Amino acid sequence: MASALTDKLSRLVKTISGQARITESNVTDMLREVRMALLEADVALPVVRDFIARVKDKALGQEVIGSLKPGQALVGIVNKELAATMGEGVADINLAAQPPAVILMAGLQGAGKTTTTAKLAKHLIEKRKKKVLTVSGDVYRPAAIEQLKTVTAQAGAEWFPSTPDQKPIDIARAAIDYARKHYFDVLLVDTAGRLAIDEALMAEIKGLHAELKPVETLFVVDAMQGQDAANTARAFGEALPLTGIVLTKLDGDSRGGAALSVRQITGAPIKFAGTSEKIDGLEVFDAERHAGRILG
Ligand code: GDP
Repeated sequence: MASALTDKLSRLVKTISGQARITESNVTDMLREVRMALLEADVALPVVRDFIARVKDKALGQEVIGSLKPGQALVGIVNKELAATMGEGVADINLAAQPPAVILMAGLQGAGKTTTTAKLAKHLIEKRKKKVLTVSGDVYRPAAIEQLKTVTAQAGAEWFPSTPDQKPIDIARAAIDYARKHYFDVLLVDTAGRLAIDEALMAEIKGLHAELKPVETLFVVDAMQGQDAANTARAFGEALPLTGIVLTKLDGDSRGGAALSVRQITGAPIKFAGTSEKIDGLEVFDAERHAGRILG
């Protein structure tokens, strides 16, 4: 992963490596570069501060100073800490529940919830051989219900109808009932989003969570949201016991620092990345590769 480092940081490592001894001020210089790289990637400031503090503690504690190759030792600590924060290995969708396993999709409007619901349906049908039903609880935007219908058909899953005059909780109950009677393995519940976090929205989704008892509660977040992703993640993480994150629009030109912020703030693993608008634009999230992208 040394290739993941910024040019500046690599140069600094070389300079330091050439020295017989490393000083605390060298460590500080290097960490300043790491800090810049993280901020340039749009990692939220408090998350960057925490990260740097942890690395500094370890660097000084583990005697980077005085070690044979101090530059490399420090880079090793940075990479290890990054990997530990991002989560190691891959985390697939958990379906260990009495069928139907319910998956609740949460996030702001425009984050990519509806698109991701269909992508996930396709993934579960093709990769896990599951019978999948989708339903929309977005009673505020009839177009959103129609959109889910369209993309569900593209995914080859079944769509459960809902209408704007219904209450989301009633829709949820009816969909679960239908899924049980027709032996669906998975029920994917798309929910209403707002342009910004608001209390009514949070209360509604908490109610849905209590009713549905989902095995997965996925927070869908737009990687292009940059710094704002941190605040959104905090609000959803406080309202719901999130079990995973889907980071969408990673095909954009952001360095994806939102991944680090969202992961650290919620503690939930990033399970998937959205990589295009198309129905097959969903990849299992690779934390190590992504750590490289963040450092630039
Ligand atoms: P929702 O309001 O959260 O349900 O968001 P939508 O699913 O309607 O998505 C909002 C917009 O983002 C749509 O134009 C999608 O096509 C687009 N979108 C969603 N996921 C991705 C992705 O991974 N990559 C790209 N490029 N666009 C995406």
